[in-house]
Amino acid sequence: MKIYGLMQDSIVDGPGFRFACFVQGCPHGCPGCHNPDSHDPAGGREMTVEEVVAQLLKNPLTDGLTLSGGDPFAQPEDCLALARIAHEHNLNVWAYSGWTFEYLRDQGSAAQKALLAEVDVLIDGPFLLDQRTLSLPWRGSRNQRVIDVPASLASGEAALRPD
Ligand code: SF4
Repeated sequence: MKIYGLMQDSIVDGPGFRFACFVQGCPHGCPGCHNPDSHDPAGGREMTVEEVVAQLLKNPLTDGLTLSGGDPFAQPEDCLALARIAHEHNLNVWAYSGWTFEYLRDQGSAAQKALLAEVDVLIDGPFLLDQRTLSLPWRGSRNQRVIDVPASLASGEAALRPD
């Protein structure tokens, strides 16, 4: 898989201590994106899922995996494999995407839908510069939602996770 960067002990990509996996490649091109170097799918470095997992499991104090980017849903097969392994090790899985929950659920590819179903919490939607905020946890702009994915898939409507 193509990786932009890996971070141990992140406290800004979800609750607790998180292993953040920033994948390389994003088709959304949001103006004002804070990671423009992560957009080119030809950039970054190639790593196997096993190599990323070895880093993920390095710290026994890690609470969860956060898939960010880039857009993890642009590499859904490898991110699905990572999410499944994280769950097997009792780590929760958060993911960011420039696509919305409804788009991924209704119009996503089979692999994107499978990844969505393996995610506990999705922060969705593009970064919108005119809605930029520093006051909402986990989000960069006010349009983005923090979604409880299992509850949302069960109810058929996006269920927002309380801050
Ligand atoms: S979805 Fe995220 S990584 Fe992609 S362009 Fe938008 S802000 Fe940047």
